[in-house]
Amino acid sequence: MPLDPSRSVAELRELRELTGDDDGAQRVAWTPTWAKAKEWLGSKLAGLPLEYEVDAAGNQWWTLRGDSDRAVIMGGHIDSVPNGGWLDGCLNLVGAVEVLRRISEEGTPPVTVRLVNWADEEGARFGRSLFGSSAAAGSMADHDDLRALRDSDGVALPDALREHGVDLDNALDAHEELESAAAYLELHIEQGPVLESMALPLGAVLGTFGVERHRIIWRGQAAHAGSTPMAERRDALAGAARLALELREIAERTGDGAVLTSGDVQCKPGIVTSVVETAEQLLDLRHLDAAKLASMWEQVREACEVFAAEERIEVEYEPIWRIEPILFDETLIGFANEAIREVAGTSLELPSGPLHDAAEVSRAGVPTVMLFVQSLRGLSHTKLEDTKPEHLELAVQALDRLATKTLAWVAE
Ligand SMILES: [Zn+2]
Repeated sequence: MPLDPSRSVAELRELRELTGDDDGAQRVAWTPTWAKAKEWLGSKLAGLPLEYEVDAAGNQWWTLRGDSDRAVIMGGHIDSVPNGGWLDGCLNLVGAVEVLRRISEEGTPPVTVRLVNWADEEGARFGRSLFGSSAAAGSMADHDDLRALRDSDGVALPDALREHGVDLDNALDAHEELESAAAYLELHIEQGPVLESMALPLGAVLGTFGVERHRIIWRGQAAHAGSTPMAERRDALAGAARLALELREIAERTGDGAVLTSGDVQCKPGIVTSVVETAEQLLDLRHLDAAKLASMWEQVREACEVFAAEERIEVEYEPIWRIEPILFDETLIGFANEAIREVAGTSLELPSGPLHDAAEVSRAGVPTVMLFVQSLRGLSHTKLEDTKPEHLELAVQALDRLATKTLAWVAE
């Protein structure tokens, strides 16, 4: 069976029909629609000489045994956000299904080839993303906290998992799945505007951004909006406002794709007749270079101290969450570039702003790379998410070439 990338596009449309509605994809993890999508994925692999299992974290695995147990893994996630797009996560799987068909047709491969559908990448229902891949990677540090998570209807996470055959207590046993892993490949839509702006269909992903998230708390003095002269005010919002604009300067100074976001400011007392007494500001900083990320956070703090002094207000910092940049494997990035050049002429190396399952696998020490295919208008997590069919076909071809190169490398 030669590779037929147009079949992948047809199958993606079929999945959209089966699990979407007028508002978009509805494959939220741990729901009946998600279970239906998982079953559909299995039906696409029926008839191939594969072993099937579901691991302790609910990840689905299909294994094509090779001459060696060392495994090249291709992965993705069939779950979506509510009202999501038709490609995020499932393109990876549907493309890999086509590659598996081609490889299995050619007989026993030199090394084992596996396909994994990671459980709950999006975290849409319980707010905890990368569930299955972090369990397999052994990086699920918040395992105990997960027991307390509830969805918007009050259903506890362990109960929802149990309905789908997963016992949270044992989820970390999924780690054994990566013991034989020699390489991990993931194709994904870019979910950003870079490839489209450069008129390129495909790019090789260097890694995922490191992230620093902090709450900045500005404290001033509430005062009457009518009776307090401008010069007398200690306005907490002034600090937050000045910082929000300073982020642009810090991004400019840092360069290399630095992004800083002030995602929210909550003001108290929050009424029209009072100067703001406290302003709680949420910050998200991202960079692929750990030193530059650290410098960005330092520059934020320096700016905060200056603004606090000038505005005669106080400032405090509370860390929310952080993750180091995760750099993908140099050899595999090289193969990804070659594969892209073979099918599309030109390749681009770019970082990933969003986190992906591939980041967890890479953190676990498995050589990893991702391919990005252009997203139209950079949109994702909406029903407007789209990619040209001809680019989807090129993406499946590039994944196939990448798999061939990786199999040969691992077999060496
Ligand atoms: Zn995704």
